[in-house]
Amino acid sequence: MKNHEIAYILYEIANMLEIKGENFFKIRAYRNAAHEIENLAIDIQKLVNQNALKEIDGVGEAISGKIYEILEKGTCRYYEELKAEVPRGLVDMLKIPGLGAKRIKVIYDNLKIASIEELEKAANSKQLQTLPGIGVKTEQSIIRGIQMIKGRAGRYLLSTALSIAQDMVTRLSSLPSVEKAQIAGSLRRKKEMVGDIDLLVVSNSHQQVTESFLKFPEIREVIAKGSTKTSVILELGIQVDLRVVKPESFSAALLHFTGSKEHNTKLRSLALRKGLRLNEYGIINLDDGEIIYPQSEKEIYKELGMPYIIPEIREDTGEVEAAMKDSLPNSVNLKDIKGDLHVHSNWSDGVSSIEEIALYAKKLGYEYIAITDHSKSLKIARGLDEEKLKRQLELIYELNKKIDGIKILSGIEVDILSNNLLDFNDDILEQLDVVVASIHTGFKQERDKITGRIIRACENPNVDIIAHPTGRLLGRRAPYDVDMELVLQACAQTNTILEINSSPDRLDINDKLARKAKALGLKMSINTDAHVAERLNDIKYGVWVARRGWLEKDDVINTLPFECLLKELNSK
Ligand SMILES: [Zn+2]
Ligand SMILES: [Zn+2]
Repeated sequence: MKNHEIAYILYEIANMLEIKGENFFKIRAYRNAAHEIENLAIDIQKLVNQNALKEIDGVGEAISGKIYEILEKGTCRYYEELKAEVPRGLVDMLKIPGLGAKRIKVIYDNLKIASIEELEKAANSKQLQTLPGIGVKTEQSIIRGIQMIKGRAGRYLLSTALSIAQDMVTRLSSLPSVEKAQIAGSLRRKKEMVGDIDLLVVSNSHQQVTESFLKFPEIREVIAKGSTKTSVILELGIQVDLRVVKPESFSAALLHFTGSKEHNTKLRSLALRKGLRLNEYGIINLDDGEIIYPQSEKEIYKELGMPYIIPEIREDTGEVEAAMKDSLPNSVNLKDIKGDLHVHSNWSDGVSSIEEIALYAKKLGYEYIAITDHSKSLKIARGLDEEKLKRQLELIYELNKKIDGIKILSGIEVDILSNNLLDFNDDILEQLDVVVASIHTGFKQERDKITGRIIRACENPNVDIIAHPTGRLLGRRAPYDVDMELVLQACAQTNTILEINSSPDRLDINDKLARKAKALGLKMSINTDAHVAERLNDIKYGVWVARRGWLEKDDVINTLPFECLLKELNSK
């Protein structure tokens, strides 16, 4: 059993408890434990072997017992009992934005509706609006919610798909018949959500590989088994396409199955003009029918008269044209990042101490790290008041004297309040190295209002960075109704930095906005918004967004060395 499989079961338990109307804290305990396990850097079996399961945040006696059981049997009795008791369709309904467990229960008790299809029918025939606590407005929002999840059916977070795929690649690589295994498709292009997982395996024995692959325990269903491609659905619902290719065709196949389709189409038509046919096996010279087997993707691009194009930008949005003119971006790399400017400690709703965060950042090779806890209005996140912030500044001052090799910057994630004001006065903000401003309340405000709030924050000379600018949560919450064109303009006029939030379920701003921002000459900061030190590793997701957005090192302020960063922050 892998971490994400255990996390999946714990999430399902939480969902079913919610439908049953169980105690809030119990539900939250399962969700927290699932979240921690999902994001664990090591294999959970290792922790079990060391008898250290309870060191995972949120895993107590009851939950660790279930984890032991799941590791041993693949499931646990509690989970099976709940599944027998709670109709599956009700759990699915929880995925509809804005529809909570209480209302699902009302609908089920009154109309015996136990699937999303039945629910949609009932909503369209106006049956829901007559139920207690559900009016016309809620019925309308249920209809919209169903349409929203239908539109994203089968979409998975990059982080989820990646951890599943990497795990499969490791196991495939260890098979004796396999020379090499590699991730392809949209996952290799690092799209923020992916529909399926494409894997490419190099082997001379297609049959042996396929047989071993089909024995993987997480496979629920085989949907296609052909001479080159095998498609399966995993227990989690995600589809995996496995293609086995001969060694000589690997590079051509990798390019082909990485896509995008549009990128490939453009390459193929360019090839034709040179008298070449490009396919997943190699490059065929149309004059003499001879086939070339390129040794690398780079060689294929060279054959077509252009430099290598990184997978992240193979979307046919001008990259081929840029390559032909030799004007591709010199894309920012993970190793260019010198620090993180949005991190929470245990002074607000984070888990790690400031010292732990600093030491972890040092281990990552960073030069600096900013501590930006929540401000006082955000009570649910234990936001800091002026007094507590002052004490935190003193501690940071002491820690900077004590710890060598990393600079801790003082900061705050100051709330942009619903009434346009910031949660702290300027005389407080002035004293901090980094001020990150963001919205956590009033998401439902009208477009003008919410856009105005962010623009007002940009106009404040003490605000350095606008964090998670659109407020979206991938697959769960749409962006608030903000006019990002106006926000980009405001940032440009006021020299305010935009954040690329690297949290895998935010990725906010996204690749397209990042590219627009660059065109306006804006600077961006790739931050993790980590609430526990290990999550500083999420930075890679933000770097991928930046690369997809054609950003270069100079567009990202936290690639600057410490002294230059300070100058940049003070330049507003
Ligand atoms: Zn925030
Ligand atoms: Zn934050």
